Amino acid sequence: MRLEILSAESLGVRGLCCRVEAGARVIVIDPGVALGIRRYGLLPHPVQIAAGRAVRQRIVAALEGATDMVFSHFHGDHVPLFKPNPYQLGFSHLPPCIKTLRVWSLSPAGQSFTSQARARDLMDLLGPHFQVAEGRADGPLRFSQGVPHGVGGPPFGSVMMTRVDVGGRVFVHASDIQLLDAATIDRILDWAPHWVLAAGPPLYLGQLDAGLRARAWANARRLAAGVGTLILDHHLMRSLAGLAWLEDLSSEVGSGLFAPPTSWAGPGSCWRRSGGNFTRLCRYGQAGTRSTHTVRLVSKRSPHRVISGTQKLRRLTAPRHCDADIDGSCLDASPLSAYT
Ligand SMILES: [Zn+2]
Repeated sequence: MRLEILSAESLGVRGLCCRVEAGARVIVIDPGVALGIRRYGLLPHPVQIAAGRAVRQRIVAALEGATDMVFSHFHGDHVPLFKPNPYQLGFSHLPPCIKTLRVWSLSPAGQSFTSQARARDLMDLLGPHFQVAEGRADGPLRFSQGVPHGVGGPPFGSVMMTRVDVGGRVFVHASDIQLLDAATIDRILDWAPHWVLAAGPPLYLGQLDAGLRARAWANARRLAAGVGTLILDHHLMRSLAGLAWLEDLSSEVGSGLFAPPTSWAGPGSCWRRSGGNFTRLCRYGQAGTRSTHTVRLVSKRSPHRVISGTQKLRRLTAPRHCDADIDGSCLDASPLSAYT
């Protein structure tokens, strides 16, 4: 089994897309990307736009060699869209082979009207290949029933988790659970995974009260203690507080927990939350280490300085994508060409 993480906040965009090689099957889970264009009334930084374009190309390339595609839910950072904004993955970007893939999806029933409309668009595009997969299994794949997106309920809805088992090595993709529901953690642990890729809590949201923060912390400790390797990203990595939270968790539970394997970098949305400066977070190190390096680049008040400041950017070597053998024997990161 081989896991490649294609989109995540720590790679500079919103999303939690990955590619899993499982014998003859190549599964792309949550092929989507977004940049949060309306947050705080600010448009994406030019560096974010470049990162988003690179991620979009990686997802399209992964789909070209895939056999299966999974939609955990229908939010705009997790699926291709009929009407994307300029920074998302649109139907027009997709390769022709998309209509030949097996497609496994959360049921649109009970989701928001927007999600249902997106599901209809996908059904129109994919025809009979689009299958509601909740509770089903196919070869190495197994799918959960819908579990809460964060705290669940309107307008968040639910998400479907995916388990991939190849020869007893188990990977679980748990998108947007935010570690806020204990029963969801139970379900993951019941699946006995060696590797879990999940969305951490959205610490950047003021409405995440003390009770929910405590719940996320307790669930994270329990999950980290029960699986071989836990990779947390997505909502957690939208603020510097998320990085500190991950460091604290890593200190408590020891090795085996880290943001995407080997290396970690990207502007995400952090630049909007860092006191007037665009902050780029870089993290280097093998599994089990916690070396962290934070670099302040340019003022967000004059973002175009980034375009003329390429010399400064060039001095940084950032990972472009995280690529890991599921056994941890092969770890690799390549440079982010979009930054240079
Ligand atoms: Zn999401």
